[in-house]
Amino acid sequence: TTHSPVVATEALTKTYGDRVAVDRVSMTVQRGEVYGFLGPNGAGKTTTLRMLLGLVRPTAGTASIDVDRVGALIEGPGFHPYLSGRDNLRTMARYRGFPDSEVDRVLERVDLAGRGADKYKGYSLGMKQRLGVGAALMGDPALIVLDEPTNGLDPAGMADMRALVVDLARGGQTVLLSSHLLAEVQEICDRVGVIDHGTLLLESTVAEMRGGSSLHVRATPEP
Ligand code: ATP
Repeated sequence: TTHSPVVATEALTKTYGDRVAVDRVSMTVQRGEVYGFLGPNGAGKTTTLRMLLGLVRPTAGTASIDVDRVGALIEGPGFHPYLSGRDNLRTMARYRGFPDSEVDRVLERVDLAGRGADKYKGYSLGMKQRLGVGAALMGDPALIVLDEPTNGLDPAGMADMRALVVDLARGGQTVLLSSHLLAEVQEICDRVGVIDHGTLLLESTVAEMRGGSSLHVRATPEP
């Protein structure tokens, strides 16, 4: 149904030795929303996303994803520097069983169609990151997971990436992303989960967050 969440975790926990990276996190992502996982470096965002995607085994708790296909940009997808953006995606598409037409579709989607023939090594950081999103979009997954998609980008690259996320959401895509920038999640997300020291401190809609006075977090100034 439309009310069943796309992602749900229940007391999801990961410990490394005596360090608790993720501590009993229970969260849901609803169909069609942009959900922002907000927290500083080391808060446990990446570990949570990795458990969700089945890349890391939880110590305790559960994580479930209620869609057939999930696309993710969570670590460098390992593009070849001397291949073009298009040839990089073609290699991946063939490996994953998608037709070349899917490559052209996603290049268009991430606004790289005009630069598809350029070598990857010549791309700006923002373009590299958008190519990574393109790779995640192959096969048109119902959910896309992006780990700090704007991290390290210059202001123009950040603006492009944010516009892309908003555009994906308008197209009906469910997006789960992480960020350490309050202003960013306020700009592009529908709902936010704030995590620090492995603990989910609150879950709220961005509208509630703006109106409420209970949240004492200052926006980090952007570079
Ligand atoms: P970042 O933005 O830096 O990636 P994050 O919010 O994604 O931060 P995590 O990468 O999930 O945070 O890390 C959470 C905590 O778990 C940190 O203290 C980190 O040092 C620890 N941690 C993560 N992976 C491992 C690992 N493989 N072994 C030991 N400790 C780990």
